[in-house]
This record gives sequence, C-alpha cells and structure tokens, in this order.
Amino acid sequence: MTDTDGTAGLDRRLADALERLGHGMRSLAQRTAREHGLSPLQQQVVLALARHSQARGEVAALAAEFDVTTPTMSDAVTALERKELVTRSPGTDGRRRSLALTPTGQEVARGLSSWDDLLTAALAGISEQDRAITLHTLLRAIADLQRAGVVSVTHTCTTCRFFGRDEYPEPDAPHHCHLLRIPLPLADLRTDCPEHEPAITPARRKRG
Ligand code: SF4
Repeated sequence: MTDTDGTAGLDRRLADALERLGHGMRSLAQRTAREHGLSPLQQQVVLALARHSQARGEVAALAAEFDVTTPTMSDAVTALERKELVTRSPGTDGRRRSLALTPTGQEVARGLSSWDDLLTAALAGISEQDRAITLHTLLRAIADLQRAGVVSVTHTCTTCRFFGRDEYPEPDAPHHCHLLRIPLPLADLRTDCPEHEPAITPARRKRG
C-alpha cells in the first residue's frame, strides 16, 4: 500500500490501529486472567456468567459467543467447576445443563470486572461526541463483519432485528429501537443488550 494520505491509506491505518488495540487488549486479558489462575477463555466465561447467567448460561451458547468449539468450551467449564467457580445444574428441559457462578465465582468476577480499566481510562480523555461517533463506527463495522461471517454472535444494536437505521434527521440520534420504541442516540447504542434478537442468522466460520 503506497497511498498513505488518501482514503485507502486511512482505512489501512484504521485497520492497523484496531489490530494493535486488539493485541494490547488480549495481552491485558491474559495478564488479569493469570493473576486469578484462569485462562483467558475461563475469564471470559466467568465475566459472561456474571453479566447474563440466565440468558447465556449454557456451554453451547457460550461456545458460539466466544467463537470456540463446544468441546473447547466444555473443557473450560469443567476446569472452572474443578476450581469451584461454576456449577452445572439441570436446565428447564431437564436435559441441558445450565451454568451459574458459585459465591466464590461471583467474588472472582468482581475482581475481574476491572480488567479493562486502562482502556476505559484512556477513552475517558476523549470528548463524548468523538466517543459516540467511534462507538457507532465500530458497531457498523461489526455488523458488516457479521454479515461476512467473520464475527459470529453479537448482541449489538446494529445486528438486531429491532434496529431502525437512519430514521431521524438528527446526526447524533439517527436510529430507533422498534422494541423499546425509543430513539437511539449514537452514545446510547448497546453492545450487549439483553433484548437483542439477531437480524440475520450469523454465517458461521468453520472452527477447528
Ligand atoms: S432491542 Fe436492544 S439491541 Fe435491539 S435495537 Fe433495541 S436497544 Fe438495540
């Protein structure tokens, strides 16, 4: 790529910056997980169960969410059971096992919840308008990547069947939620909405 000043160059540099950020966040996650005696995947499971134990507390749902195979997720959950952080009990259909954090698991989740404080502190120095535009931009990119089958499960506004795109002329609040029946300002777009329903069936990547 020789065009470092035009649009193509900008796209390349944005992709580079996101990749760099991803590396940094992975390294931060690994460090926090290690401090708590967990693998990064086990850490993600503990945090996910702390946020949405009812909706996503099954091995298959967690495997889809974190884009790993069901056996890989099952191994992670078994390790968390051995550490007495997670329990499995029969779900409502008596067949599937639903997962929940033990009291010790909840305590560990509280300790893990600040794992990305360094990033949120860095973002706090940016104006709210810029942060809102950045959120909107990233959520649009995530929706495009989901349509392309790169990102699997998301719970963001831009991938939700209730999302009404560009329904208002206001640049800082152009979208609408047809479930909650409210306008969605850019700054209020959700990344992990409990009411989310997928707009499309995510194209699944082949996972090894
Ligand atoms: S239901 Fe949630 S994710 Fe869907 S558009 Fe409304 S606020 Fe966004």
